[in-house]
Amino acid sequence: MKKIQMVDLKGQYEDIKENVNHGIQEVLENTAFINGPQVHKFQKELETYLGVQHVIPCANGTDALQIAMMGLGLKPGDEVITADFTFAATVEVIALLQLTPVLVDVEIDTFNINPKAIEKAITPKTKAIVPVHLFGQAANMDAILEIAKKHNLYVIEDNAQGIGANYTFANGTKKKTGNLGHVASTSFFPSKNLGCYGDGGAIFTNDDGLAHTIRGIVNHGMYQRYHHDVVGVNSRLDSIQAAVLRAKLPNLDTYNTKRRASARKYNDAFKGIPQIEIPVTHTSCTGICESCDCHVFHQYTLKVKGIDRDALVAHLQKNEIPCGVYYPIPLHSQKAYIDERYNEADFPVTNQLIKEVVSLPMHTELDDEQIAFIAKTVIDFVTK
Ligand SMILES: *Cc1c(COP(=O)(O)O)cnc(C)c1O
Repeated sequence: MKKIQMVDLKGQYEDIKENVNHGIQEVLENTAFINGPQVHKFQKELETYLGVQHVIPCANGTDALQIAMMGLGLKPGDEVITADFTFAATVEVIALLQLTPVLVDVEIDTFNINPKAIEKAITPKTKAIVPVHLFGQAANMDAILEIAKKHNLYVIEDNAQGIGANYTFANGTKKKTGNLGHVASTSFFPSKNLGCYGDGGAIFTNDDGLAHTIRGIVNHGMYQRYHHDVVGVNSRLDSIQAAVLRAKLPNLDTYNTKRRASARKYNDAFKGIPQIEIPVTHTSCTGICESCDCHVFHQYTLKVKGIDRDALVAHLQKNEIPCGVYYPIPLHSQKAYIDERYNEADFPVTNQLIKEVVSLPMHTELDDEQIAFIAKTVIDFVTK
């Protein structure tokens, strides 16, 4: 059996080597390392793929979130609601901009922000909601967009883990994540579903005015050379990274289909094991079938019941199976973000999930032998 990796970037590279090498070579030859033609081509290709009017590439997914908030003109003291159970980047940029982060609980089945908790947290100072499409599945956007409309709030999608996923609205219309709110961010960190070979990110919006504002912000607030109209940042996707992304984008749907296929195999293996809860797909979806494209499984995350999760993690590591605990500490308990406004009783789900979750290897190169070995090792431990 091939050595199991959490993410197999080498195996994936072997498959697309020619295109990647050719794209990088082209950048080396034309030496337009910053803002070269590859960046503009990638931007257009991603706009077409997502069906979104504007893609603005930038340096990483954290910048993308920050720039989206700057572009919306959020001001110190404005409250921004986001999920307690997510990667820290989301709350970090809110705090950096001196906005007030308001963390709320998530849903036990999808791990995504709970619309009821959002509604409860709204005050006259609330300006925006940041749903994170965690682990590759969209948050409940029907409910979130309705709340936003009712209270006149912006919706900023953190799509770092969800690129390529679809969301089916209650009325049956289907759209890609990142094309659902006012503005969205994504990350091209190497291990993301669409990853480059360094850092990268992008902002998406259908609002022409906002896109114009953001294009200036990413470039030192310049709309005309050496005229600085607003305070900006320097945040660019470089041409070599764009070349890598151009080689990968045509494969994104195939990559996500492979991830779903692996998830289905894991699910089948874990069926009927009472100590294991498999990931739940969105209610509008019929489950993990060949044609379902609502979940892109950035992570395949189990909940274990009545089991010492950390002992399971140690057991997997002993058997050379890499795994991850995303996330072990709720954001409201992180030193940097502790706030006396928070009450433990408001986070029952996050406080439970941090003890139960474990993410298994998930990437485009997993084979049946590896999946069977991983599943058997988990099952042997939890049923012993
Ligand atoms: C990866 C990630 C980010 C940050 O992206 P970087 O490119 O690493 O800055 C933000 N939010 C979520 C949910 C992520 O998974």
